[in-house]
Amino acid sequence: MNSFSAIQRPDIIRKITGSEFDLLVIGGGITGAGIALDATARGLKVVLADMQDFAGGTSSRSTKLIHGGLRYLKQLEFKLVAEVGKEREIIHKNAPHLTRPEKMLLPIVKNGSFNKFSARLGMWVYEWLAGVKKEEWHQVLNAEETKRAEPLLIKENLSGGILYYEYRTDDARLTLEIIKEAVKRGTQAINYMKAVEFIYKNEKICGAKLRDELNGKLYEVYAGCVVNATGPWVDELDDLEKKHDTHKLHITKGVHLVINKKKLPVKQAVYFDTHDRRMIFVIPKGEKAYIGTTDTFYEGSLSNPGITPEDKSYLLKCVNNYFSCNLTSGDIESGWAGLRPLVNKKGKGPSEISRKDEVFISESGMIIIAGGKLTGYRKMAERVVNKVVEKITNERPEKFLPCTTDKTILSGGGTETAANFSEFEKLKMSRGLTLGLRQEEIKELIYRYGSNIEELYTIIESFLKSVPGSNEKDIPVLLKAQIIYAIEKEMCQTPSDFFIRRTGMLYFDIETVKRWGAEASLLMQKILNSEDKLKDRFDAELKKSIEEVK
Ligand code: FAD
Repeated sequence: MNSFSAIQRPDIIRKITGSEFDLLVIGGGITGAGIALDATARGLKVVLADMQDFAGGTSSRSTKLIHGGLRYLKQLEFKLVAEVGKEREIIHKNAPHLTRPEKMLLPIVKNGSFNKFSARLGMWVYEWLAGVKKEEWHQVLNAEETKRAEPLLIKENLSGGILYYEYRTDDARLTLEIIKEAVKRGTQAINYMKAVEFIYKNEKICGAKLRDELNGKLYEVYAGCVVNATGPWVDELDDLEKKHDTHKLHITKGVHLVINKKKLPVKQAVYFDTHDRRMIFVIPKGEKAYIGTTDTFYEGSLSNPGITPEDKSYLLKCVNNYFSCNLTSGDIESGWAGLRPLVNKKGKGPSEISRKDEVFISESGMIIIAGGKLTGYRKMAERVVNKVVEKITNERPEKFLPCTTDKTILSGGGTETAANFSEFEKLKMSRGLTLGLRQEEIKELIYRYGSNIEELYTIIESFLKSVPGSNEKDIPVLLKAQIIYAIEKEMCQTPSDFFIRRTGMLYFDIETVKRWGAEASLLMQKILNSEDKLKDRFDAELKKSIEEVK
């Protein structure tokens, strides 16, 4: 099995530079991850590279929902509603630990986006198109019932509500589990490796020069086919081409803010109208709730879109108008800004541009995928890999397997896990309790790691047997075990990788990051066996990450 350990980086680099691949995927967000898994499962020899951490772009900055596609109904995108509805079911089946159905409340207010009639009609059409299963059909509430479902709603103007199902996910972890599954099946994957130049043979792209962003070294990687899956960076990468095309993307920015539930004590996820006729979410998560999203055209740094004072005051105003609360910017604990890579359509407002994906082929043969959603990643990958296979089989006689990712259980999905998740939960809960973990901690681990939780338990057991005495002995055992697992099994290179994309703590548990960040940096430096200066770099980078989310 290929390694996905940060410690094995030199060995992985030797492997990716030492032979020719069928496919080089540039970009390790959910789009590139899905393509790598699909192509590997069909029998192609694949390498996947990202210039930052995996999911370091939009794929860790979404609303974290596997949508059924309700909002596309407003844009009359019936085909898209049908596709994402079916995809939601597939993702749930293949990664039950990372996708959980949850009731979403759609309040109906006077002069809102929906009245009772249009909301019910919309729901029926949506549930029919998306193939929503009967036990998850919507429920209609009167004003009193709506207020009981979410007591924080302001009562005036409320005429009723609808409860329907959305599926929650952890976008970054979903991306990682797809990559882990791809690596298990043969993909070579590496982060912090930036494509800086293309290599050509007879005017056709046959590889790329990759720069190691950790030390500046350059490497050449050769492949029969190259895919540009760089999300918001699609045009930037395309610009490296000798004959680059016109720009394909329109970038819009979306911001989410995290508030402590003591200040915003919502019981229930709510999808509600804004004063400027948009709709946004408030979603409770543990002791926090997050609000989002904005949707504004964006030009600026793609790596650090940033949260502006205007973004904050817009979202706070939306919530203060709709709920009995009086939030101020001092109540914001954390947040994130993400960029939507939308396919360019002139003359449309940010919220009107379609979320559909499109595949392009450049003059030199590079396959480019633009647009799309987290939810539709698998189908997007299927379309791209069909093109890759077509290209390769036009050039040499070879047979590849058909697409099987609808039945490919992702890492952490585990066969028994997928078959009976509640039984699996019970088993892992009782084992976690014997290791001295608290119920809430175990629940979080089950949803974060799925069937891979056993590997965490084994690390924890080894600590319980060993005699304490190292410098970082004060780090809670659970945090330490997760750091070790992230480095050895999930190619975690820096504390920000760990606190943002491996665990989401920077967003939803910033107190722990502030309390243990320095110790975590020291532990990571020791495990990675690097020079002393690394700890200073880690500390500075983590400090910057903490500042950025405020
Ligand atoms: P990215 O995740 O950005 O990945 C591209 C990767 O390419 C990056 O990691 C980057 O580092 C890498 N890269 C760039 N240039 C290079 C290079 N030269 N060399 C190597 N690597 C490179 N969808 C849903 O289904 N549900 C939601 O709830 C949802 N909410 C959203 C909310 C917001 C605010 C936003 C912005 C989007 C949301 N989406 C949602 C859409 C979804 O998040 C995106 O469609 C998806 O994450 C895009 O993934 P991607 O892999 O195409 O891009």
